[in-house]
Amino acid sequence: MAKGIIFIADGMAGRPLAELGGATTIEAAETPNMDLIAAQGECGILDPIAPGVRPGSDTAHLALFGYDPYQYYTGRGPFEAIGAGLEVKGGDVALRMNFATIDDKGVVIDRRAGRIQEDQGTDELASLLNGLEIDGVKILCKASTAHRGAVVLRGEDLSGEIDNADPHREGSPIPKARSLTEEAQRTAGLVDKLIERAKELLGDHPINKKRQKEGKPSANCILLRGAGIAPQVQPFNERYGIKGSAVVEVGLIRGIARFLGLALIDVPTATGGYDTDEKALARAVLTALKKYDLVFTNIKAPDLGGHDGDAIKKISDIEKADRMLGIIYEGIKESDTHIAVLSDHSTPVALRDHTGDSVPIATWGKMTRPDGVTRFGERPCTSGGLERIRGMDLMPIMLNLMGASEKFGA
Ligand code: ZN
Ligand code: ZN
Repeated sequence: MAKGIIFIADGMAGRPLAELGGATTIEAAETPNMDLIAAQGECGILDPIAPGVRPGSDTAHLALFGYDPYQYYTGRGPFEAIGAGLEVKGGDVALRMNFATIDDKGVVIDRRAGRIQEDQGTDELASLLNGLEIDGVKILCKASTAHRGAVVLRGEDLSGEIDNADPHREGSPIPKARSLTEEAQRTAGLVDKLIERAKELLGDHPINKKRQKEGKPSANCILLRGAGIAPQVQPFNERYGIKGSAVVEVGLIRGIARFLGLALIDVPTATGGYDTDEKALARAVLTALKKYDLVFTNIKAPDLGGHDGDAIKKISDIEKADRMLGIIYEGIKESDTHIAVLSDHSTPVALRDHTGDSVPIATWGKMTRPDGVTRFGERPCTSGGLERIRGMDLMPIMLNLMGASEKFGA
């Protein structure tokens, strides 16, 4: 069996921009390595979920891993919790958490507790809630970046069908977690009880006393939102009969990869930002390839330029992704390895958000059938041999190239 790499430059695809003379940011960027892969390989365009559907990075990645997001996506909560480093099992209910500040009357006066930072004791505050038991349900809690964190409820008969216990603005008390179905009443009640416990445990904590003395808002309560029940999934390795790993930067995508059972490879200098270490990411992919059959990698930076509406930044991020691809290419060009280069969705600079456009894809390796495409981009790839495919088609295409797929029929 050959090896495989799925290389995703997050949000790289876009739309033509007047300020670039009608080019997209990919077309305007210098991408010699993507162009080489496109020229030697087989290209196409890919609808991450379905034509016109605007994907999140999470639903797009589920589809690219071959897990139908309409079946398996149950809200951001579970994947963010795993991304924050909590272990999540099928049936757990996970929620996104903010540390926040309430006054004596219980009114939320700062939804982010003065944007409290990791080095200001958020781990310690989260640990006060971690391991609690409320009405026979276990609570797991972990801080992530700044004022954010995640909570997991583990027990029998839980439901993710509850509304947010978050006023979404300052000046109001924390609303009760409303159950959206009858089955969810118990879970909503548990969330309310947890918030009360958090107020008791966090209120007088020395970290908050110190913040008050310094004139900073206390992290004296929590807000919970985005509840979702973690789906039951067949692990990636079992589903495909191969060993998969992931070299990915941001929590949400790390969470999905870990939940599906891919081995996560840490790259300490990968920041998930504009300043990420693309060379270290590339080296980690090559190292992982020695041990695993398929390595999934995502470099986040191009998506950021899209959200920031900054074409110049986005172009330089795409060039950064291209340098990463160049190192990977040098490492695999003599070996029996297949690679797919794509974006998980479009994040056009002019719209500053994801759109439901297709993305370009190029596949390359000994077993690919080259087509007439000579460079990588939204428009050049439309004339490629893969034509128009969907995110869920990617894994079967890779497994076929790698010689790792089961025959369907006699
Ligand atoms: Zn994305
Ligand atoms: Zn994005």
